[in-house]
Amino acid sequence: MTQQGCDIGLIGLGTMGRNFVLNLADHGFAVAVYNRTAEKTKDFMDNEVGARPIQAGYDLQEFIGLLRQPRALILLVAAGAPVDAVLRELWPLLSPGDLVIDGGNSHFTDTNRRGRFLSGKQLNFMGLGVSGGEAGARYGPSLMPGGSREGYDRVGPMLEAAAARVKGEPCVAYLGPRSAGHYVKMVHNGIEYGLMELIVETYDLFKRGLGLTPAELASIYDRWNREELNSFLVGITAKIFTRQDDRTGKPLIDLILDKAKQKGTGMWTSWDAMDLQVGTPTIDAAVVMRDMSGYKEERLAASQVLAGPCQTFKGDRQRCIGQVKNALYAGMIATYAQGLALLQKASATYDYGLDLEAVARIWRGGCIIRAALLEDIRSAYKTKAELPNLLMDPHLGKEFLSREADLREVVQMAAALGLPAPGLMATLSYFDAYRSAVLPGNLIQAQRDFFGAHTYERLDAPGAFHTEWEEE
Ligand code: NAP
Repeated sequence: MTQQGCDIGLIGLGTMGRNFVLNLADHGFAVAVYNRTAEKTKDFMDNEVGARPIQAGYDLQEFIGLLRQPRALILLVAAGAPVDAVLRELWPLLSPGDLVIDGGNSHFTDTNRRGRFLSGKQLNFMGLGVSGGEAGARYGPSLMPGGSREGYDRVGPMLEAAAARVKGEPCVAYLGPRSAGHYVKMVHNGIEYGLMELIVETYDLFKRGLGLTPAELASIYDRWNREELNSFLVGITAKIFTRQDDRTGKPLIDLILDKAKQKGTGMWTSWDAMDLQVGTPTIDAAVVMRDMSGYKEERLAASQVLAGPCQTFKGDRQRCIGQVKNALYAGMIATYAQGLALLQKASATYDYGLDLEAVARIWRGGCIIRAALLEDIRSAYKTKAELPNLLMDPHLGKEFLSREADLREVVQMAAALGLPAPGLMATLSYFDAYRSAVLPGNLIQAQRDFFGAHTYERLDAPGAFHTEWEEE
């Protein structure tokens, strides 16, 4: 603590908050902490703080009194109503010019609303996306700040110190006004859903199609993680397959119920993509499959009634494994392409002024979607900031095209085996649609004009046309 008080305050000593406080303190910043449940604060101070420069307030007034002015404080509380509840109590205790940062996974429209409210009270507000889970918060997350620029100038050095670093560069950059940071974090999570779905589809093909064991799977994903698929998600997948259950000694993965949960950020990405009319089919498929995984009882009943093809693969297994690897890499490229195309449209629509090269740069470390591929994505935007789609980057387009035939074969294989692979299938259709000079939208226009007189445009003349379709 300096003579005038702590450098920064943090409200919410949950998984993320506790770890982020320790991270900030380990970088030499004096931190004041407060948590709604006082026992948690006491437990944290007694057992985790040690000699670090951390002070606790056991009510909000005491906490605010510990902060140097103008104050800066971060909320890391559960998203939604809890953020509003804390802000309601907090703002009357603050002074004009103080800075409030919401580090949770808030919906971007809530961030806009809260920003308007707080700026009416002469307070600065930032929405800060934090990714990397518990370990990231503790040792270096990817940080996606947006909102008050003046606020960022004040806390930027602290965020840069706490963030992950890749090749000497911190995984944090001021992204833009209002909810720009939370929007980028939402799309980060949408991409995360897409990548996870693609990986689990490859697992399903290997497990149910090829009959591979967890030990064989561990070795495949571990090898992939040392090649071009190198990424946090492929790496943890390899480790998951090595874990034995303490109770039974069996592979733990085989004992985990197949109902995938979600907190909504993937769904928010799909919603907003639909609102902005940007196609994100791999991400949409990922959300749908989490929903469908939830109907466990219904699926069990249907499995007794609705027969499908035999699920055993009969071809060359080594060749198949190589093809699946290529299909996954192509799918990864297309998933980032969809997410970044959404960011581009959102930036234009919401006036965020996003720099996509900076986004790719800060996603290279600390976060859940960090991957070797992000170096290439960063280079693509460095070369051409206005790139309409990553598939149009000469290098990434070539990487996709060189794997396209394998993606197509893997999709056929999944269909032939009766194994669901909507992420891979949607990826292939996205590619086929994006590269089609002509799509069957002409027939949709004719149908709309037929039943609703919605009119259509013609290829050979400008203007809007209507046809009386039932006439002779
Ligand atoms: P957590 O472990 O569940 O902790 C939740 C915190 O919110 C606790 O400190 C809790 O205080 C506080 N809280 C809940 N309701 C409150 C209310 N009405 N008033 C005041 N405080 C309230 O959550 P977390 O995992 O740290 O997540 C915090 C935020 O980070 C969330 O927005 C989450 O989505 C986001 N996030 C999480 C992760 C992750 O991997 N966990 C990663 C990125 C982002 P009490 O102790 O009093 O209950």
